[in-house]
Amino acid sequence: MQPLAVYVHIPFCTVKCGYCDFNAYSGMDNLKEAYGAALVAEVHANASLLSGRTIASIGFGGGTPGEVPAAHIGAVVAAIGQHARLDPAAEVTLEANPGTLDRPQLEALRAAGVTRLSIGAQSFHADELRFLDRIHSPQATAAAVGLARKAGFESIGLDLIYGLPGQALDAWIGSLGTAIGLAPDHISIYALTVEDGTPLARRVRKGEVTPLDPDAVADLYEAATDRLAAAGYLQYELSNWARPGHHSRHNMVYWTDGEYLAIGAGAHGYLGGERYQNIAHPRAYIAAVEERAPAPHPGRESAYRPGAVTAMADWFSLRLRLLEGFHEPEFEARFGLPLRKVGGVVLDDCASAGVLELAPGVRLTRAGRLLHGEVSARFLARLQNTLAATG
Ligand code: SF4
Repeated sequence: MQPLAVYVHIPFCTVKCGYCDFNAYSGMDNLKEAYGAALVAEVHANASLLSGRTIASIGFGGGTPGEVPAAHIGAVVAAIGQHARLDPAAEVTLEANPGTLDRPQLEALRAAGVTRLSIGAQSFHADELRFLDRIHSPQATAAAVGLARKAGFESIGLDLIYGLPGQALDAWIGSLGTAIGLAPDHISIYALTVEDGTPLARRVRKGEVTPLDPDAVADLYEAATDRLAAAGYLQYELSNWARPGHHSRHNMVYWTDGEYLAIGAGAHGYLGGERYQNIAHPRAYIAAVEERAPAPHPGRESAYRPGAVTAMADWFSLRLRLLEGFHEPEFEARFGLPLRKVGGVVLDDCASAGVLELAPGVRLTRAGRLLHGEVSARFLARLQNTLAATG
């Protein structure tokens, strides 16, 4: 049986950033104790799903997982280990906000079993951090990396955001250069997106903020690709670069159709061919877990089994995020249909346009990396036509 990954959601943040549409909340410190207990209770309630499985990775995301006591993190790891076999080399990643890290806490997290930190640097310019509502300074990120190394973390990642309104190429390359100078093991870069319902979206609607032109955003991505390669980082996914051996094993599970158990408010899981989601609001989630409702999976809100079109489209889109792509027989082995039969026209068109390479495997070209969304959408449309036609 394949190893299982576990995702644990911690929804608390000191401040809710204006661009963020994650399931994250500020001003809920009073819930943290009850939430920690609910996480452990949910793990125990899922004993049957964990039993007999080997856990190769655990990812604590949020929110700001570094905002809860390390003891809560350790209790969740220990509870998982009571029901499943925790691989001695398991990757246990925690997303951290540089504004909330100190040495004792980092040491406590390391002792709690966390092996890898993913630090949300976002930018090394104070004005950009203010625009993003981040509570930390560029200096705090640099200090956090140093403290994390001293606390014994051997795998540290930095996350950066690019494509801010008005962001110039030299400002972006400056942030990237500062990040590289801190010698992290992993770097993720994400384009700022204006998500519906966020304060940022309202500011854009009112004309207070003008999003950066998509061509300029693409130029920043291209420049980062060159800069990171020159610094010796290997790109392995559209948004992710790593030193050899430091890619995110946990995230690889998401991109390669692997199974993952979800624990915590609003967490998404994928198990036994079923996708499910927990209750999003922390208070409602805690109440449900305390009442052991709904049975047999307390805290769960909904579940569904994706149909063939959705499953194939998701598989294709996620695998194409990886720079290595995939081999066509893998698709057929997974779905029992030749990839050519359901999407051959799209593959050939994209290859002719210089967006896809088809041999030795299917993967995006460098130019195609900027067009992942379009390629995925075309494949989905083709699937809908082909499978509807064949019944
Ligand atoms: S710290 Fe991260 S999760 Fe929290 S509000 Fe800001 S962007 Fe969202």
